Amino acid sequence: MKVIEAIDDMRRLRHQLAEPVGFVPTMGYLHEGHLALVRRAREENPSVVVSIFVNPTQFGPHEDITRYPRDTERDLAMLEKERADIVFMPSVAEMYPPQFNSWVEVGKITERLEGASRPGHFRGVTTVVAKLFNIVQPGKAYFGQKDAQQLAVIKKMVAGLNMNLEIVAVPTVRERDGLAMSSRNTYLNPQERQAAVVLYQALTLAQKLWLQGERDAGKMRQAILVLIQSEPLASIDYISIADAETVDELDTVNPPALVSMAVRIGNTRLIDNVVLG
Ligand code: AMP
Repeated sequence: MKVIEAIDDMRRLRHQLAEPVGFVPTMGYLHEGHLALVRRAREENPSVVVSIFVNPTQFGPHEDITRYPRDTERDLAMLEKERADIVFMPSVAEMYPPQFNSWVEVGKITERLEGASRPGHFRGVTTVVAKLFNIVQPGKAYFGQKDAQQLAVIKKMVAGLNMNLEIVAVPTVRERDGLAMSSRNTYLNPQERQAAVVLYQALTLAQKLWLQGERDAGKMRQAILVLIQSEPLASIDYISIADAETVDELDTVNPPALVSMAVRIGNTRLIDNVVLG
């Protein structure tokens, strides 16, 4: 496994890799969710590149990027074990030199949910992912269903800009009690960690209502709201039942419907989702 920091070196080595290249972009502090992406990439491609880059342009002015957890040594040991071929770890200066001012923006779908709560977030995501795609030139890139709107936005960018690769969605990996794995879970104290399971309980309730025949999105939203409000440490940012592709809010739950939520547990903002149908 080679660890590369310079874009030029990445490009040079890229040409020596067996085709096609499977690519997994991450912000590091890896867990089983990330590793599921790497394993899938390993199964489907003769070469695997993983990037670790905590991307400053996707953090808002009030989001503390310096607090984002990092452990490069541990990450590299995990990736070595998963037999990644290359780990690309550019510096911020390498990715965003002083004269940088070229942005990739996907319209409409980025205005809602995570985009509404975190203005500029998706512009940062699409810009860095487009740059990484140009540098790594993968045949397939792997993204987690955990970040469902991000996945939809990336698919839209790839289709809209005729990027020559396939986007592969990987199911959400969860802890034993159902909490979706996330680097942000490390911010939770033990009491908050227990409370955080309420997101999964709410998604399970939505799934149960769906299977019982509930098709009224308003009623489903209300049931989720009541359940989350029963947890004193939780405060709701949004609860959404939307078309899985456009992320437009639904009145009637037509499959595939994306039930997604952002909930603050103490000071930690967690997101999770399930697709119905
Ligand atoms: P991040 O490091 O948070 O930017 O995540 C990198 C990639 O891992 C993204 O495509 C995420 O959707 C994916 N990912 C994060 N957590 C999970 C999880 N629990 N299950 C599956 N994929 C995940």
